[in-house]
Formats: sequence, structure tokens, C-alpha cells
Amino acid sequence: RGAGTLSVVVRGYGDGMKLVLSQDITERERADGMRRDFVANVSHEIRTPLTVLSGFIETMSSLPLSEAERRRVLQLMGQQTQRMQTLVSDLLTLAQLEGGRRPAADHWVALDALLKRVASDANALSGGKHAIRVQASTRAELAGAEPELLSAVANLVTNAVRYTPAGGEIDVTWRQLPDGVGELSVCDTGVGIAREHIPRLTERFYRVDGSRSRETGGTGLGLSIVKHVLQRHGGQLQVESEPGKGSKFKLVLPASRIRQASDNAIGAEA
Ligand code: ADP
Repeated sequence: RGAGTLSVVVRGYGDGMKLVLSQDITERERADGMRRDFVANVSHEIRTPLTVLSGFIETMSSLPLSEAERRRVLQLMGQQTQRMQTLVSDLLTLAQLEGGRRPAADHWVALDALLKRVASDANALSGGKHAIRVQASTRAELAGAEPELLSAVANLVTNAVRYTPAGGEIDVTWRQLPDGVGELSVCDTGVGIAREHIPRLTERFYRVDGSRSRETGGTGLGLSIVKHVLQRHGGQLQVESEPGKGSKFKLVLPASRIRQASDNAIGAEA
């Protein structure tokens, strides 16, 4: 392997220019490694539901099934298909985020409408098993692309539902600090996350508990989508969590990208 040999030689000489070259190669190797891991992960994620689906097709074509059994098998096949659809849709979202132009800062998204949509989707997903509360202390509008901001907030709230047992509480809270910085936090009373996992949560396909994530329809891509959206909107993601107690995911947005909803907007809604 040429690149590996080169960096050994370079270290031996300790030559400045060659050292830079070796760092470049190391960087490229790292990027190649990440790409290989990514392709391997995607292949694995697609292969698993495909294996299950082909098993069911085999069963349906070789065994005489009762009507009830047939319906059950079709339902399970539907779940696996849904899983692949979600995966492909998350992959496309990530590819668009990585390759696309930054959203213009002169498009303004009404936060309260966005929160209403997120809350109604979260309630549907929870099926009434969680107490979901949404509170906003200012009527703000955020600069940027609506679909991206919506997908960031929806990912956090969906995770809160997924990783909180029935009977738990989920609080979505918007507030602005005196300097105008905006904070949207999604706080749950769920399973929590051990400290050592927190720095890796936004890596693609990183899961603390793979089986729980898959069971609940997770792709392992949600938080990397959130990270990309925030990068493009000048924001940051902060995470605090305690295993067994719950988690708080906070989107922090700069004051320059927030404005108060105009009176017109209030009038138009009323
Ligand atoms: P997934 O589709 O698996 O939920 P994400 O990228 O959204 O993927 O999250 C990565 C991992 O972080 C999850 O698999 C889960 O282990 C952990 N996680 C995310 N949100 C929460 C939460 N609110 N509570 C506990 N664990 C969480």
C-alpha cells in the first residue's frame, strides 16, 4: 500500500513539506475509509429488510396460508418496505443537504406554524402514549428553508417519542435569551444516553441501541440530518442526557436569523 509506506518514510526524515503531504494522504485515507464505511452501512441497512421480504415471498409461495396468516405476512412485508422507503428518503435528504446551496436568509419561516405541525405529527406517532407539550415565549420567525428546519425539529421530537416509554413526558420549548439568541429545546423523560455516546450521536448510522432504533423505525441518520441543517442555518446542537432519566436536545440559533412575527402575520392568522 503506497500511501502507508510514504508516511513511514516521511516520518523517518522529519521533513516539513513531506510531512504535509503525508497529512494530506492520511486525510484522504480517512475520507476513503468513511466512504467505504458509509457504503457498507447503507448496503447492510438495505440487505436486512430485503432478506426478510424474500423470506416472506418464499413463505407465501410455498405454504398454504389461512386468510389471517396471509394478512399478517402482508402487514410485516409492508413494515419492511416502509423501512426501506424511510431509509432512502433520509439518504436523499442528506445528499441534498450536503450538495445543495445554502438556503437564502431572506425566507422567513413562522415558528408557531412549524411547531404546530411537529406537535401533531408527534401526537400521531405517540398514539396518545406520551404527554406532549409545546410552549413558545416569543412569536418568532426563523430565516432559512422551511423543509429543512421542519425536518430538524421533527427528527428531535420523533426521537423523543421513540426513546421515551409510554407514560413519559415530552416538552418542546422555544425561548429567546436577552441577547436575542434563540433556543428550541426538546426535553424527554426517556431512556437517556450514556455520556460516552454523546459526541458520536450525529455520525451517520451511529446508534446507541441498534435494535430499539430499528424496531421503532429509526434509520440512524436523523441526528446527522439535524447537524447538517443547523450547519446551514448558522446554528448548533447541544445535548444533555442522563441514562434512565431523559434527554434534552437543544437547537441554538443566532439572533441574526430570528425576527419577531409581524402584526400582519398575526392578523392574517386570526
Ligand atoms: P435513529 O434513527 O436511530 O433514531 P438518530 O440519528 O436520530 O438515529 O439518533 C442516533 C441515536 O441516538 C439513536 O439510535 C438513539 O440511540 C440515540 N438517541 C437519539 N435521540 C434520543 C433520545 N431522545 N433519547 C435517547 N436516545 C436518543
